[in-house]
Amino acid sequence: MVETAWLSKKLGSGKILCQACAQACKLDEGEYGICGVRKVESGELKLLVYGLAAAVNVDPVEKKPMFHFLPASTAFSVGTVGCNFSCKFCQNYDISQYPKEHNHQIFGRELPPERIVDLAIEKGCESIAYTYNEPIVFFEYTYDTAKLAHEKGLKNIYVTSGFETHKAIDLLEPYIDGMNIDIKGFTDEFYKEICGARLKPVLECVKYAHEKGIWVEITTLLIPGKNDSDEEIRNIAKFIAGISPYIPWHLSAFYPMYKMLDVPPTPGSTLRRAYKIGQEEGLKYLYVGNIDDEDYESTYCPKCSKRVIDRQGHIGQYVTNELDDNGICPYCGYSLEGVWH
Ligand code: SF4
Repeated sequence: MVETAWLSKKLGSGKILCQACAQACKLDEGEYGICGVRKVESGELKLLVYGLAAAVNVDPVEKKPMFHFLPASTAFSVGTVGCNFSCKFCQNYDISQYPKEHNHQIFGRELPPERIVDLAIEKGCESIAYTYNEPIVFFEYTYDTAKLAHEKGLKNIYVTSGFETHKAIDLLEPYIDGMNIDIKGFTDEFYKEICGARLKPVLECVKYAHEKGIWVEITTLLIPGKNDSDEEIRNIAKFIAGISPYIPWHLSAFYPMYKMLDVPPTPGSTLRRAYKIGQEEGLKYLYVGNIDDEDYESTYCPKCSKRVIDRQGHIGQYVTNELDDNGICPYCGYSLEGVWH
């Protein structure tokens, strides 16, 4: 299906500016955006993957990862082909980079917004996650689905690299309840050389989404020798703590992938070092990911330090949540930050 990519603007020059992400593509007739799924046809920007899902799964919400968001529930997870980044370590490059690597071809199974919402309800999911590839590139598809999902009592999650424009966040804010945003590194060189993007818009997006009241969690994939120095980790921790020390930070292990097969996997010691740095900078909710470590994957009450959500298993298969529906600690009555019902 092809729909108008209405988050765009006609410029005086005759080009069309896509307003979805910070790549800010200005396109002439017949041109594709950097993401490969937005293209000018007959004088309008079109979304080529509207209603075309390339990946669909029912996942534990912990796998997104979202740890302070309806714990132990499932998220109906949808992605398309295409991406505005070109990360050399992408775990989903087979869909994210597909159009760029296959002469603009796209694929997917027909799954209109109504069908996604019906399936999510049928499968007992409490939320819909727009994930696997970058959701902002299929903004209009996510927007229509999220709106319908809200009408039916489901929540919505964006799993994103954080290149959304402020305009996109303004439009998403009424419908998107949670965002997991990657901060992939803390230098512009890392973003330019490894991801084909820039750091500043990501930091602005994190700040803005939090200001708008969307529940935000952050993920950083720590890659040996690339972004895992004490200094870089501390800079990220400081940045997050400067917005709010209650924003959860997921420290994730890298495994050799795609164009980064020559880099070794992240040792557990690096993740624990980063966890400690996060604590030193005042962050209250730290988590390691992509390795099993119950002590470092569980949630502790910031007031009484008791373990209140116990997580075991690689993708949160075993979650024991002691908080009540309002996120209240049963030991001291502290109200933990998050989306609990
Ligand atoms: S969503 Fe795609 S077309 Fe739009 S600005 Fe970003 S990369 Fe360019």
